[in-house]
Amino acid sequence: MIPVNSVLQVGQFPEIMQLEIDQRLITSKMLDPQGKIPDGSFTAILTRSNTPLPKELFEQMPSVKMVATCGVGYDNLPLDFLSTRGIKASNTPGVLNDAVCELAIGMLFGLLRRIPEAQEFVKSTAWSQGPFIITSTLAGKCVGIAGMGRIGQDLAKRLEPFKVKLAYTGPRKKDLPYEYHSNIQSLAKACDILILACPASPETEKMIDEVVLEALGPLGYLINIARGSIVDEAALLVALQQKKIAGAALDVFENEPNPNLKFLNLDNVLLTPHIGSATAETRQLMTNLAIDNLEAFYNQQPLLTEVIN
Ligand code: NAP
Repeated sequence: MIPVNSVLQVGQFPEIMQLEIDQRLITSKMLDPQGKIPDGSFTAILTRSNTPLPKELFEQMPSVKMVATCGVGYDNLPLDFLSTRGIKASNTPGVLNDAVCELAIGMLFGLLRRIPEAQEFVKSTAWSQGPFIITSTLAGKCVGIAGMGRIGQDLAKRLEPFKVKLAYTGPRKKDLPYEYHSNIQSLAKACDILILACPASPETEKMIDEVVLEALGPLGYLINIARGSIVDEAALLVALQQKKIAGAALDVFENEPNPNLKFLNLDNVLLTPHIGSATAETRQLMTNLAIDNLEAFYNQQPLLTEVIN
């Protein structure tokens, strides 16, 4: 049982998630994380991975001992600070793999076959003036995955039937039937399509820079379904403008929800508004897992999916 008004909801949730929360919890809500903290003696926080929580918020609420974030990424949490204060944290890994992988595959084909432009071509009646451009086939290409974790491995399995060669990079070689590269430059050079599925961290910040994009080359595509901070956007914009790479599909950006406007004028991008996990089924699973973690905390049981710093 989660005691009434012991959990503070920080940030806005989409309606489908809010309905789930309101069915299972009686909470106070602080929709603006920069806003005024509501009155109450809260012992836990429920939030989303798109809502950065500064350490000052926890300093103002010393009774808080647990934070449950909806999302697998936890770069929104001040983890070092939380661990020094003994505040537990949980995320929602695994339950969003299907949705994120499905989006990645959709973006891959959308980008290679130029599906959004093809629809616009028909809708604008341009077709009557001549045929649409010739695009690229996925079969026979090498797909490189940076970050062979839960999402990366699910994605690789889904890509196998598409007659591609698979390769990956990450801190550790895994027992997988795919070619391992010890660094991102080597993977970028070896693959035709580079998909990012690694966490945002100090090690991955701007990991996709001018050198990596150069290695990917003029026939190479970049797909980012991980976090915007992993890509040096200034370098990516130059690479796209000067056709140093063939194209990019981006679900995540450095500055969300106001991505760099220069992306909007490019014809070799496919852009989506951070919707990797944004399906009704997945968002319900995420919300329930986050609340299950809160329940475990209040029942003094091990958290189901604890974030270990
Ligand atoms: P995960 O299971 O923790 O996998 C992350 C993988 O990245 C691990 O295999 C890890 O290697 C690897 N890695 C760590 N540092 C790396 C580096 N410097 N270079 C390359 N690989 C590195 O996480 P997940 O559940 O698959 O999720 C991955 C990320 O996807 C999340 O962190 C989140 O930011 C993002 N995401 C985005 C959306 C969206 O809406 N677009 C939705 C969900 C998740 P080891 O296994 O060796 O530790």
